[in-house]
Amino acid sequence: MAHLINSKSWLDDNKVDLNDKIKQNLLPHALLLKGYALAGQDELAVWLANKLLCADNHGFDACGQCKSCLLVKSASHPDIQIIDNGDKTIGVDLVRLASQFFQKTAQLSQNKVVIIKSSENMTEAAANALLKTLEEPTQNSFLLLSCNDVDLLLPTIISRCSQIQIQPPVGQELAKLVDDKSLLHDFTNINQFAELTDDFTKQAYLEFNEQLILWLQNFQQGSQLITLFNNNNQSLRWFVDCFQQLLRMQSGWQDALANHPLKVLQDNYSNEQLWQCLQLSMQANKQIKLLTQANKNFTIEALLVDIEQRLQ
Ligand SMILES: [Zn+2]
Repeated sequence: MAHLINSKSWLDDNKVDLNDKIKQNLLPHALLLKGYALAGQDELAVWLANKLLCADNHGFDACGQCKSCLLVKSASHPDIQIIDNGDKTIGVDLVRLASQFFQKTAQLSQNKVVIIKSSENMTEAAANALLKTLEEPTQNSFLLLSCNDVDLLLPTIISRCSQIQIQPPVGQELAKLVDDKSLLHDFTNINQFAELTDDFTKQAYLEFNEQLILWLQNFQQGSQLITLFNNNNQSLRWFVDCFQQLLRMQSGWQDALANHPLKVLQDNYSNEQLWQCLQLSMQANKQIKLLTQANKNFTIEALLVDIEQRLQ
């Protein structure tokens, strides 16, 4: 089970802001809650949904005791729909259901809420279906899109939502939040929030690095590495990170990266080789976000062939 940071206190400012908007009747119909994976966009969406459905609208948080609050807790409130497909794509059918849900009147609460988690995983058809909903908002309906990578959303979706940026702490403040310090180094940044704060992602990160190091040492078992690419959305970022870290080690930062799993490879390549690999992996990382699964596999395979040629 993933270990999440319990109190994401940096969400407090966002909550104050949303609370003010509700009080002034200025809360937009469509909100895009964006940040790095696990930064708290899902929690904030659920907090807001709770508040919008709660029968007692005087407090800062939902009361937690009224019928609405109890039904939300037991996942059986009729006026909220949560689309949560994990890492998988969100198809047009799910989005159509949400749109139909908005057409009905609320049954119990004043408001109706739809939350779409990891909304960056919507297919193009799904996003286009959602656009219609965004263009014709129904009364007292609130659409909350939580998003881990805003680059993957259609610009037309983004432009029709009011955006809320979630910004977890960085540097020393971030380090304080991390229970297991073994992955921290001098170049740790907010990009790594997911693997630093979530046990499941951390295990996937370590497994990926282990397989990557094996592959870089003899260029065998590429298919196992490709499986890991397919299993985790973060893996191409980790691949890019690998060449960044190796370049840093070559530039005299070995001490700062003393605990880094890639340290075993630090003397294997020239600066020029690593630089070329970094460029190739960054290009692939940009490209791949816009591709279908079949083309993704092809791009990853081609990338591994290119990298192998550069490093041999
Ligand atoms: Zn309540």
